Amino acid sequence: MRLVLLGAPGAGKGTQAQFLVDAHGLAHLSTGDMLRAATAAGTEVGRRAKDIMDRGDLVPDDVMVEIIADRIDQPDCAKGFILDGFPRTVAQAEALDGLLETRGLALDAVVQIAVDEALLLARIEKRAAETGGARADDTAETMKNRLAVYREQTAPVAAYYERKGALKSVNGMQDIAAVRDEIDEVLKAVVS
Ligand code: ADP
Repeated sequence: MRLVLLGAPGAGKGTQAQFLVDAHGLAHLSTGDMLRAATAAGTEVGRRAKDIMDRGDLVPDDVMVEIIADRIDQPDCAKGFILDGFPRTVAQAEALDGLLETRGLALDAVVQIAVDEALLLARIEKRAAETGGARADDTAETMKNRLAVYREQTAPVAAYYERKGALKSVNGMQDIAAVRDEIDEVLKAVVS
């Protein structure tokens, strides 16, 4: 199974992705995690990405597409994967279509976890307090920018998949287990 998880910062993509990894044995491709690992390792990409991420802006599309192109060719992706944090722009979504097509692959579903902005801000503030600022981009100010970037650049990605008839939206404003169950239902309908 090959999935894209869409949702604003704080919508719960990481949490739900982990359930899907455990339930279906999929590889979890979180571009945020990959970039943070690159930053920690001090690679060229990591050095370029650090300030951009700290501001809450987006790393350039060509960098991200190259990272994903390499990653989906790794052996652990053969059994399927979940894209979490990618595509974040329509250009990335188009590039992903091309990457998959060249490999004779297709997405099974694009699942959007829909959450109101007010709830997102509250969640992120809580996460910032709990982790003691472990993530440099979990501050209220950066968060506002990340939400604006989401609205302007990532929300159109949902519309892109909607037009293709691939978008499945679930209500992300329920407790974690209820969101998980709703995603399971959606996937049962798609993959059976
Ligand atoms: P969250 O899910 O909390 O919004 P992520 O961990 O997915 O955050 O991403 C953190 C940061 O990494 C983003 O704010 C952005 O700067 C960068 N990033 C991650 N994925 C992408 C992408 N596909 N394109 C551009 N930048 C990205």
